[in-house]
Amino acid sequence: MSMMLYDTARRKVVPFSPPQQVLMYVCGITPYDATHLGHASTFLTYDVVIRRLIDLGHEVRCVRNVTDVDDPLFAKARELGVHYLDLAAGEEARFNADMEALNVLPVHAAPRASSAIPDIRKFIQAVLDEGHAYVSGDSVYFDVSTFDTFGAVSGYPQEEMLRLAALRGGNIDDPQKRNPLDFVLWQPSAADEPAWETPWGPGRPGWHVECSALALRELGEHVHLHGGGADLIFPHHECERAQSESATNTPFVDHWMHAALISKNGEKMSKSLGNLVFIDALREVWDPRTIRLGIISHHYRTEWEWHDNLMPSSNERLARWQGSVGGDDDEALIDAVRAALDDDLDTPDACAHIDSAVSEGRDATAAAALLGIDLVAG
Ligand SMILES: [Zn+2]
Repeated sequence: MSMMLYDTARRKVVPFSPPQQVLMYVCGITPYDATHLGHASTFLTYDVVIRRLIDLGHEVRCVRNVTDVDDPLFAKARELGVHYLDLAAGEEARFNADMEALNVLPVHAAPRASSAIPDIRKFIQAVLDEGHAYVSGDSVYFDVSTFDTFGAVSGYPQEEMLRLAALRGGNIDDPQKRNPLDFVLWQPSAADEPAWETPWGPGRPGWHVECSALALRELGEHVHLHGGGADLIFPHHECERAQSESATNTPFVDHWMHAALISKNGEKMSKSLGNLVFIDALREVWDPRTIRLGIISHHYRTEWEWHDNLMPSSNERLARWQGSVGGDDDEALIDAVRAALDDDLDTPDACAHIDSAVSEGRDATAAAALLGIDLVAG
């Protein structure tokens, strides 16, 4: 028995049939601000996947990195006048507290980019040795012209890749590049940014290379499922795959899975628009189970809109489910929830099954536990 999950690279729902030990990599946070709803929604998606895989008898090794060497972190540290690693440590602790409150299972490893500089150096050298990168000026670039299937993860045409690269920090006009879609593996640091020595000069890693180096270090050359928010499909995951397969000559990922973004007032929730809903603010008012239930009542692959009535209605739903506690385990309900999760992680359908069972006076404790919601907890 296996789950059916949408694979971004194949652009369809396919069986996800990993071996007993599942190797999974999920792109984590850049720790410069509090956890918002979009983060929580992404990480809850993979948490429900992990719970169902464990329920199916798998052992899951999930690695979720912490990007503590990155432009937005340096910018925020500069603004606050603090050391970037102090800012990162504080925000990482806040993030972990939010994840724990939302009952997200602990991951196998949460490595920091700053721990991976020797791994990144070795990785970049391997890409250079394989002839897929070049040194130009003070930087090292990946050469997309050497990688025939660049674009296979996203499936985006050239113009769309250029548009998104420009939008998401790809500096397509950099005169040192041979091709505007070439991306940085190593770059010089600004005067107040950290710098490490390398054969190509002092500097710091590019954005994408950290995840490839950490996946290789923590999980090996091949992972079964790779996840993240949908905004990471391009360029981040496209570039990760290209450089990983160039360094190792091994297929990097079996299955790519992405969680949709969330909107508020008709616009995508984002830092730049200032329309974020923060988890710690919600936790001041609501039971964390209410927050978790409100988020997973949406399908992970469908963009949805935040409404102020989501938490009150989720709270009522949680109370109804809690009112069912005390009967026998309902095997038919448990099987219905499992079937919903196996159908491309259809958590709204799973919740609907629980709703109707509860309205018939059946006990939902075990079924809700499959969704990571403990109806008995105080
Ligand atoms: Zn990543």
